[in-house]
This record gives sequence, structure tokens and C-alpha cells, in this order.
Amino acid sequence: KGPTITAGEILVEIMATTVGDGFLEPQALIGPFPSGAPAIFIDQVARCGGSAGIIAAVGDDDFGRLNIERLRRDGVDISAIATIADRPTGSAFVRYRENGARDFVFNIAHSAARETHMTDKAQALIEQAGHVHVMGSAFAIAGIGEIILEAIKSVKLRGGSVSFDPNIRKELVQDDEGRKLIDDLLDVTDLLLPSGEELQAASGLDDEDAAIEKLLASGISEIVLKRGAGGASHFSRAHGRIDAPGLMVSEIDPTGAGDCFGATYLTCRRLGMHPEQALAYANASGAHNVIRRGPMEGAASLSELDAFMAAQISGEA
Ligand code: ADP
Repeated sequence: KGPTITAGEILVEIMATTVGDGFLEPQALIGPFPSGAPAIFIDQVARCGGSAGIIAAVGDDDFGRLNIERLRRDGVDISAIATIADRPTGSAFVRYRENGARDFVFNIAHSAARETHMTDKAQALIEQAGHVHVMGSAFAIAGIGEIILEAIKSVKLRGGSVSFDPNIRKELVQDDEGRKLIDDLLDVTDLLLPSGEELQAASGLDDEDAAIEKLLASGISEIVLKRGAGGASHFSRAHGRIDAPGLMVSEIDPTGAGDCFGATYLTCRRLGMHPEQALAYANASGAHNVIRRGPMEGAASLSELDAFMAAQISGEA
């Protein structure tokens, strides 16, 4: 039915090796790690055995090459990743605080991703695609937003499907144009992958049950709500509500968990699994990601997730 595709910013992440407040002193760092929510997502689609491709732009530098090489090795179609000569691949420095909050230093304002435009190769990928994954954050860069809208149109015309991770900033929803964009995206969404606050922002309702009911009534087939350490819940007309409690793990680096979770859920469903099984794999995928340093380092195949779940049950993990 055609590959799952997405578009967005690819960057590297460099992490502090100790917990504390920010970067005001020289300190030990680890990285660069391949990163960027769309890259983490699409890498995990491929790791799960799904056909996958990404439209993006990186600089002609090692941070770009590191990402391309990882995605290629994991089986992602990298033909639509452009290399931009005179702009760097973006980077983010991150340090966790004692309470789990993060301090960032971003170098993305002038990154190669700002030069993401439709190309022949991007068009060719879109024309084969069976599914588009949309992230709210994609619309922060105009060129990427346009590609996503074009991809949605093309895939929907051929009877394909759309998943939407609203990672919405609240300010965006308050603004009329932002609200309209989100409503337009919700109109074409088959699978919605919000976390708690995003569910409220997307629906405009505080009560979880009312929010789910409203969104299912509006035509979204499936909603999978991410609850961090609390696990996740699936809601649909066809299968009702299914809950999966969080696996008991000690969290080291939660960056990327939501993307791995969503990619695993989507891919399992596209491979024909029942939502309950897809949810179990997705939940394991999120947990597998949080126990490893680096946003993409927890990406795992379904057989690795089987082993991880088996170890969890027997108390070894
Ligand atoms: P997002 O990164 O989009 O905010 P979450 O933080 O809710 O998403 O994480 C996504 C999924 O990853 C959760 O639904 C859960 O399955 C898993 N997960 C995240 N944090 C933990 C944790 N501390 N323990 C176990 N599972 C976790």
C-alpha cells in the first residue's frame, strides 16, 4: 500500500553526561546523536519492518552524514533528503535537571532544514506513499509545512491514510490561523497520537472522555493517548477502549519516546495487527527508548521488543 513518509527537521543532539542546571560551566558531553522528531519517528517505522521514507534537508557536514547513514542503515528511503551546501545541519545541546526538566541550547535558526523545499525526489516519494505522518512542529518551517500539506493531498487522493502527532504549543492554538490549521489537519486525520495536554488543546475540552468522544465523532478512526510513565490508551469505535499500563523502567532520557511509540503503533497497525497488540508493542517501544541516552538510540525491531517485554515480565530488565 506504499511507504509511510514524513517530512521535517533532522538535527543532532549533544547531551551533558551529568544532571544539573544548564551549561554555564565546561562539562562532559556525549554525542552527537542522530535526532529530530521526524527522523526518530521514521527510523523506528523502518526498524519495525515498515517501508519508510523522509523528506528533509541537511548540511554538507558530518552531522548531516551521521543522520543519513543511520537512517540508510536502518532501512529508511533517504533519496529525498537534500544536502544544502552553505547551511549547517542543526544541533541541540541538552542537559537534564534533577527534576527531569531540560535545558536546551539550539542551533537551528539558520539550519539547512530552513531550506527544505519540494524537489523531484520529494515528489517521487510522495507519489509512492501510502501513509503520511504529520507533526504539529513541521509547520514551524514554511517549506516543510507546504510539503506535508501536498503529501496529505496526494496520499488521500489515492485512498491512503494520515497520522497526526499534534505536539502543539498552546500559543499556536490560541491564534486563529493556528487553530484553523489544526482543525484542517484533524479533518484529514485517521490516527491521532496526542499526549494529555495535546488532547485538550486539539479538542478544546478539558475532560478526557468528552475530548475523545468529540474527536471520534468528528471522523478520526483511532486515538492513541500517550501517558508517559503511565503507559497509553487506545480509543476507537471499532475496538472501544484498550489501556496499556506503563512498563516499570528507570527513565534516563525520555526524548524521542513519543515518536518511537507512535511509529511502532502505526507500523504494527499497517502490518495488520489488532490494536491491542500494536499498543503493547508501542508501549514497549516508548519504554525501551527512555532507558537509553540519545533520542534515536532506543529504536528497536519487533523481535527486540519481544525480548524486552519477555525480560520485563520475568523481572530481568
Ligand atoms: P511524548 O514524548 O510524546 O510526550 P510520552 O512521554 O507520553 O510521549 O511517552 C510516549 C510513550 O512512551 C508512553 O505512552 C509510554 O508508552 C512510554 N513511556 C514514556 N515514558 C515512560 C516511562 N518513564 N516508563 C515507561 N514507559 C514510558
